[in-house]
Formats: sequence, structure tokens, C-alpha cells
Amino acid sequence: MTVPASQETAPQGVEAQYRQALDQGRFLIQRCTGCDRAVFYPRMICPHCGADSLAWITPDGRGTVYSTTVVRRKPDAGGDYNVALVDLQEGVRLMSRVEGLAPEAVRIGMAVRAQVAQQDGRGLVVFVPCKEAQ
Ligand SMILES: [Zn+2]
Repeated sequence: MTVPASQETAPQGVEAQYRQALDQGRFLIQRCTGCDRAVFYPRMICPHCGADSLAWITPDGRGTVYSTTVVRRKPDAGGDYNVALVDLQEGVRLMSRVEGLAPEAVRIGMAVRAQVAQQDGRGLVVFVPCKEAQ
């Protein structure tokens, strides 16, 4: 790393890298080369062991719904939508939503798969039910 860190370059850090990949349709998480554990949300320092050796990996994409909520919204504002916490196989949990079924039909423990959706020109991680697990 020969580029000096400064306040001006802070937005170009790991979060910017994460968002840039998402915008290109790629969902990335990090894995620590020190303790071999997965890390999400993107950061500079491993929260498990304190190492600064986090590498980008492409997660398997399979996950399990840990909790689910229906956010009520007026139909003319887009209607109700789902907010879910999903545990990835890699052992990290992220807040997202499950699509492809009614928001209230999402169940805790449901097997889901990550995909990258586009919303307002930005990439966004969403989940859909795993067909083979139904
Ligand atoms: Zn670590």
C-alpha cells in the first residue's frame, strides 16, 4: 500500500469498493486471512482477531432467514415489503429483503439465495427462495 490514507480518500475505502462491485452485479464479502473467518459489513480490520488482512471473496450465496418483518407501505408508495436478516453459509448476517413471494410469506429458517438487483442505478443484494429446498 503506497497510497497514503487521508480524510479525502476515506470514501474510496472498503465500503466504496463493496458498492462499486455491487453496482457491477457482484456481491462480495470479506474473509480474514488471519483467522479465516468471514466478515460483513466491509471493514478494514477483522472484528474477530484484529488483523488488517481482509480479502474479498464471492460468497456461495446460500443463506437462511434469521428474522423477517413486513414493512407496511401504502400501495401508491410501492406496497408492503419484506425486511429480513439473513445468515449466509459463510457465517455472516446481513439485513436485506426476500423477494419473489408475498412479504408475509417469508418464514424464519427459509432457505434463500442471494442475487444482485438493480435499483435506481445501484446494485442491491436481495434474496429469493431456494427452489430446490421447497
Ligand atoms: Zn481475523
